[in-house]
Amino acid sequence: MHLRHPDVLDFSRMLAGLHLHLKPRLHVLDAVTVMEGNGPRNGDPRTLGALLLSEDPVAADATFCRLIDLDPEHVPTCTEGAGAGLGCWQAGEIELKEGIPADFLLSNFRVIRHRVTRDGLLRYYPRLRHLLFAHPVIDPALCRRCGDCLRVCPVPDKAVRFQERRAPPVFDYRRCIRCWCCQESCPHRAIHSAAPWLGRLAGLGGLAGQGRA
Ligand code: SF4
Ligand code: SF4
Repeated sequence: MHLRHPDVLDFSRMLAGLHLHLKPRLHVLDAVTVMEGNGPRNGDPRTLGALLLSEDPVAADATFCRLIDLDPEHVPTCTEGAGAGLGCWQAGEIELKEGIPADFLLSNFRVIRHRVTRDGLLRYYPRLRHLLFAHPVIDPALCRRCGDCLRVCPVPDKAVRFQERRAPPVFDYRRCIRCWCCQESCPHRAIHSAAPWLGRLAGLGGLAGQGRA
């Protein structure tokens, strides 16, 4: 599905459609231990100690966003979910049975805080896209050359490959759709997100300098 919907907004719309199809009735958001920084895997744990339960998945996500001081409007699953009629993210429309105790607010949570933009025409200019958007990089000191990142890459013929037998794999950024499946699958925390300075200047760069703690 990453390959069919490489644009993050389209992918979020697909998730909303999947949700409409499955029709879950209760949503339980486990925020006892949460992860910040490098993602979608291998970030740093923080204790929040919260469980959120809601019939409305968008309200649950939006409420968690507010616990970490993140604007839900910058989270495509919230906006696309609301657009698909799954629920609401605006604070005034969400009724909290227990309120939000001050103890549950996490300050300085390391998360991407910019509005997500479409690749648009940039998908036809991969070099420029590479200069603007965050992309995965491999730390050679941590890579054990297990090959898991190659196996999960959904791009036909792979956007990450071994080129030399004893060296870590190499990315082909012209073909990489930035789905982060490789980062999620690396068992050795060797892949992190690099935010190019030009993208950071344009407000598109993600977790600048915080890819790995
Ligand atoms: S999954 Fe991680 S450790 Fe394994 S080859 Fe890829 S980058 Fe290296
Ligand atoms: S190299 Fe990684 S981020 Fe790029 S398409 Fe493959 S799995 Fe996705």
